[in-house]
This record gives sequence, C-alpha cells and structure tokens, in this order.
Amino acid sequence: MIDTAVHQGRRHKLIRELAAKGIDNSAVLSAMIKVPRHWFFPKDFEQYAYRDAAFPIGHEQTISQPFTVAYQSQLIDIQKGERVLEIGTGSGYQAAVLLEMGVELYTIEYIKPLLQKAAVLLKPYKDRVRLIHGDGSNGVLKYAPYDAIIVTAGAPTIQNELLKQLKIGGKLVIPVGNSRETQKMHRLTRMSENKFHREVLGQFKFVPLVGEGGW
Ligand code: SAH
Repeated sequence: MIDTAVHQGRRHKLIRELAAKGIDNSAVLSAMIKVPRHWFFPKDFEQYAYRDAAFPIGHEQTISQPFTVAYQSQLIDIQKGERVLEIGTGSGYQAAVLLEMGVELYTIEYIKPLLQKAAVLLKPYKDRVRLIHGDGSNGVLKYAPYDAIIVTAGAPTIQNELLKQLKIGGKLVIPVGNSRETQKMHRLTRMSENKFHREVLGQFKFVPLVGEGGW
C-alpha cells in the first residue's frame, strides 16, 4: 500500500480543517496525520478519503467521519499505555488512530468480513491490539476493566454492563438516541464504584449498534 506526497498533503489539509473545527488535542491530531485514511477505504474510492465525511465500507456500514473520530478520540482522554475497548471495529481506522496514540486496544466487530479486513490493516500494531469477533453491545468482560470504552455505533440506551467494565476514573464515550437517525454523544466518567459523572454533548449520526444491548 502506498502513501504518496499527494495523499500526505491532502491529509495535512484535512487535519488543519479538524483543528479549525475545534479539535485541539495534539496527540489526536498527530495520530491522524500519521494514519493513511485512504488505506481503510474500499478500492477505487480513495479519492474520497480526505474529505471530512463518512463513507460506505460495505455490509451497510460506514467508516466514521474524520471529525467524529477526532472528537471521540479526544473525549476518552487517554494516555499512552492505557487499555481501551472499541465497540465496532468497522474499517479499523478509528482503531489505528487510537493505536498511534499508544494505547493497548481491544476492538470487537459483529461482521466477520469487516474484522478480517481490518486485521490485515492493523498488522503493524499487532503487539498492542486484539481483534474480537462478536457482539460487543455489552462490552467484553474478559479483558475488563478498561481506562476507556469507545462505542462507534448508535446505541438505544447505556448498558450497565459497559459502565461496570470501566476502571475508577475511566470514561465511556457512546452515541445514544431513541431514534435510529441521530444520537447525542454521551461521556460517562466513573467517579467511584457506584458514582458516574454524565455529560451530554453534540449531535451525531451513526449506524445502529445491534446485538443484545443494541437495536
Ligand atoms: N470505528 C469504525 C466505525 C464503523 S461503523 C471505523 O473507524 O471505521 C460501526 C461498526 O459497528 C460497524 O462495522 C458495525 O458492524 C459494528 N457494530 C454494530 N453493532 C455491533 C455490536 N453489537 N458489536 C460489535 N460491533 C458492532
């Protein structure tokens, strides 16, 4: 796979756009400069990779909009070496951004062919990433607790199971909405065993979270 000066130029321009839209976490911006988003696109459509827009990746799923990836990555507020669970691997792009930020990542995807494709693209990070096939709507208990959980599909509600898998001080970032169309980003921070701080943030449009705790 190639990453030409033209790709890099377009990527830098996109990152400047994200900064202008309010993304100010330098770890997020420099990770996004490093990850060639066009590698995560379907063949023949890479010319669309450096627009700030979601794009279909097959199986009725999408690669998230760059602004959304940046926004969620910024909200989980993670440090190098911390343990993160991503629910909805999709193309693997959000995973690659988190891995460039230095985390230890667990990522779960429902649709096997998507996971298999992402696994190839995430090979360079294989020592710090575990890809899991299955329903992540109730998290992944086996590797809990996590410093952060990031949900990249729209959920009907916030499952208690997810909250229980956070470390004290850990953060869950999840789009929630009672319509399948738009969701509000929620951030829940575990303050103590039973206390959570909840913030309701901007509006987004995600594909639906399916499975037991989904639609
Ligand atoms: N993070 C992805 C976004 C993919 S879209 C990216 O950067 O490309 C959301 C993904 O969540 C889809 O691939 C969908 O199949 C997956 N998904 C939906 N419900 C799920 C569930 N219950 N468990 C695991 N993955 C799920």
